[in-house]
Amino acid sequence: MYFRVFCGNYMTTPKGNTSLLPRPPIVVVMGHVDHGKTTLIDYIRKTNVAAKEAGGITQSIGAYEIEHPSTTSTGSGQASSFDKAQDKSGQAPKKITFIDTPGHEAFTKMRSRGATTADLAILVVAADEGVKPQTAEAIKILAETKTPYVVAITKIDRPGADLDKIKNDLTTHGVLLEGYGGNISYQPLSAKSGEGVNDLLDLLLLTAELENFTYDPKIQTSGYVLEAKRDKNRGLEVSVIVKNGILKRGQKIKVGSIGGKVKILENFLGKTVNELTPSSPAMIIGFDDLPAIGEEFAAGDDVEVQASGNQASAARSTNLSNHSPFVTEEEKGITLILKAENSGSLEALTATIQALTTHKPLVVKSSSVGEIYDGDVQLAVSTGSIIVAFHVKVNSAAKRLAETHKVKILESDIIYKLIEALQKMAEDTTPPPEGELEVLAIFNQMEPEKQVIGGKVIEGIFKNKRAFEIVRGETVIGKGRITNLQQNKADADQVPAGKECGMMVNSETMVKTGDHLVVRTA
Ligand code: GDP
Repeated sequence: MYFRVFCGNYMTTPKGNTSLLPRPPIVVVMGHVDHGKTTLIDYIRKTNVAAKEAGGITQSIGAYEIEHPSTTSTGSGQASSFDKAQDKSGQAPKKITFIDTPGHEAFTKMRSRGATTADLAILVVAADEGVKPQTAEAIKILAETKTPYVVAITKIDRPGADLDKIKNDLTTHGVLLEGYGGNISYQPLSAKSGEGVNDLLDLLLLTAELENFTYDPKIQTSGYVLEAKRDKNRGLEVSVIVKNGILKRGQKIKVGSIGGKVKILENFLGKTVNELTPSSPAMIIGFDDLPAIGEEFAAGDDVEVQASGNQASAARSTNLSNHSPFVTEEEKGITLILKAENSGSLEALTATIQALTTHKPLVVKSSSVGEIYDGDVQLAVSTGSIIVAFHVKVNSAAKRLAETHKVKILESDIIYKLIEALQKMAEDTTPPPEGELEVLAIFNQMEPEKQVIGGKVIEGIFKNKRAFEIVRGETVIGKGRITNLQQNKADADQVPAGKECGMMVNSETMVKTGDHLVVRTA
């Protein structure tokens, strides 16, 4: 065991506030890719969620609770939701909540707001590799957010494992371990055999006792969104982690401008419950729209829910769209999450995609550098996006999540192959033409969004308010939308083939005589 000795009392509450109650620590696992984060998380879940309960975990809600015997205190801390089993030494187990997925992304997103979902972190460093770029980044984030952490030196069963090298490496990066000039606890372990994992859990409980995490049952309920998705049968499913107050069924709930009511409340095992106390993960059904992952929620009868679902939805799609005047709810584009190995290649990928003209607009929801994390997949699930990955790895948690939710990931180390794949996908989803018009006259082009033109419908039917492609020669050179359609100087809803018409159109491209405008069925 490598933990420090201390005298802490988990039940202690700060002076002057008698309403505070203890809550379990919320723990996130961080570190470099392939250093064993997912394997460690999986091992802890498999071995510490009571077998009969584990059967209840049908799908991840982003976090789960375990119970571990306390090695130091009287065990008076947490009321167990399980069977209050006593370990061999007669001590009641204590709860720990684990954020189910490696925490790098969640932390990075939230750090700008100075808030973090997790109370504690496990910094994973592989014994055969040492500190790598993402380890260094994790160390920086932990320092900036002042998050207490313990170090797990993983893969000690590997032939190349060298503990002394790792400790030196960590010292060089400012992580001063116990016995090496500092007070950061550490635990060598193997997530394969399980050796050392229980000791790591002891360390976490010890650190939690020192930190004395509490909540106030009397104040407004709050916490953070972990995952959000649309389920075909159940509607919007939003999982959250409660950090303060008490989350109750029937409460009003709000995330930013998105409101709702806790109609169904489930614990992390999928069991319906009436209320949940802090550090518990919860699944909520009752939001009016999908909130963003990492956002803070407030719940309670006095929460003011301002926007209706539709308003919130509209606000959100404006934020997320590429601000093109041609992207509307009606002609939903293909939404993309771009990932590339560095900012140079990300710029190249973004520029190439933006230059493409496809029938369905390509809307970039997010773009970032680095491997594909589960956070990217969660965003893809909640926004219905496709991930386009240029020269980057997909981490194992992300792979699993993508398989579960059937998220499409277009991957290649060659940019034109990605573009080809994207174009093919766009073509496959292109509906057939509904009508085609030849432009015969230009009446007014003072403003691109108010071009007045005349033409003859040569195929199908032309309908007012439709989006169109501008075809010059053989090439689609731009897009636009009909804002007013007239036949014989009177407003018209539609004009059939063989007839002439006038119209006002909105397009970034200046239409010319001889161009063909093509509208499609959807
Ligand atoms: P992550 O990217 O940090 O989540 O890393 P993973 O958990 O996916 O692990 C990367 C690889 O290392 C996988 O092939 C694991 O099986 C392996 N691995 C993880 N932990 C251990 C360990 O303690 N011992 C050994 N021998 N292999 C491990």
